[in-house]
Amino acid sequence: MSDTPSIVRRMPFPESSSRAVVTPLQPSVVYSSDTPDALDAQYEGRAQGYTYAREGHPNADVLARKIDQLEGVSDQMGQGFITGSGMAAISAVVLGLCKAGDHVLGGDQLYGRSLRMMHEDLPALGIETSVADPTDAAAFGAAIRPNTRLVLLEVVSNPTLRVADIEGIAKLCSQRGVLLVIDNTFTTPRAFQAFAYGADVVVHSVTKLLAGHSDVTLGYVAAKTPELRDAMLLKSVTWGLTPSPFDCWLAERGMYSFELRFDRAQDNAAKLADALATHPNVEKVLYPGRADHPDHNRIQGLLGKNAGNMVSFVLRGERPQTNAFVGALENIAFAPTLGDVGTTLSQPATSSHRALSAQARQSLGMPEGFFRISVGVEDSDVLISEFLAALDGVTA
Ligand SMILES: *Cc1c(COP(=O)(O)O)cnc(C)c1O
Repeated sequence: MSDTPSIVRRMPFPESSSRAVVTPLQPSVVYSSDTPDALDAQYEGRAQGYTYAREGHPNADVLARKIDQLEGVSDQMGQGFITGSGMAAISAVVLGLCKAGDHVLGGDQLYGRSLRMMHEDLPALGIETSVADPTDAAAFGAAIRPNTRLVLLEVVSNPTLRVADIEGIAKLCSQRGVLLVIDNTFTTPRAFQAFAYGADVVVHSVTKLLAGHSDVTLGYVAAKTPELRDAMLLKSVTWGLTPSPFDCWLAERGMYSFELRFDRAQDNAAKLADALATHPNVEKVLYPGRADHPDHNRIQGLLGKNAGNMVSFVLRGERPQTNAFVGALENIAFAPTLGDVGTTLSQPATSSHRALSAQARQSLGMPEGFFRISVGVEDSDVLISEFLAALDGVTA
């Protein structure tokens, strides 16, 4: 027998009189307590501590507190929690707040997977669903049913960038006792303070602008009250929607530059939108910051100057023209995501709306030449010259 401990015993973590500047990454799945009494104290809320990573871990909490700060979530409200993806966040909302027999009303241009969940998955759980146009509060209100439990909305729709009448709908929701859930992914708390506009629950795909580097998939949920939050958090823990510590750690790093990235990308988006609008091969530009946007009046009030980093436009032509355009943009990723530091380009006809017929897409205002740009933080002159050169190269 030797005096050295077995190799399978863990070493104590080195002590240091100086502190690490960066948040430590804590991948431990379990946490040990000194005594059964100590564990009791923790479970009974007399002491603060972690037990098992699916139930919570420090890297998720650090990230959640940072997003709480941006969303204006105070200690008295339902502090946010992190989920393994944006869709896990939306799942936690529905599982936590709805039961069979309830009705969920959504905007008609929600994120594609959210719409799919409403069309296929919620009905399978006995939850009724329908969608309505959130730019028209009266029409939207008419779709509220006696059993409507919650309304799920995005402020800026995908990909046509229409802006919902949040004030009108929030008023209806509060009058009718319906919970208002805002997916604030596109707008981010930099542009839109959802709780101030009457949201009961705010969700994010942290994957997008908040983390900002296309290297983590995460979500976030916060609520106006601790009761609402606890109901959703319980489902997140039971259904295993919780995130990995490493992803939270990476997303936290991304968050430190979020405001800088957002402001720069938004400036670039405004300039690029104006430049695209001058090109003869462009039929139409959709950008919430432009005076020709159909919801321009509402945007001033809701978003102020923060019209965001998303620009959509319609290129004249069919597949030969769209192939030529995308092929010429060598430095721009043709990829269906958004919120990366670099500019990305996507086309509903070949991604989010590929299941629809060309005719159905046309009637939604998304012909073959419809593109959505998630504008990044590159030098704006370089970005604009790349897009204009690619447009110049497209021939009828
Ligand atoms: C991407 C996205 C989601 C889903 O998020 P994931 O992290 O991909 O699961 C939900 N809502 C919106 C608006 C999104 O853009």
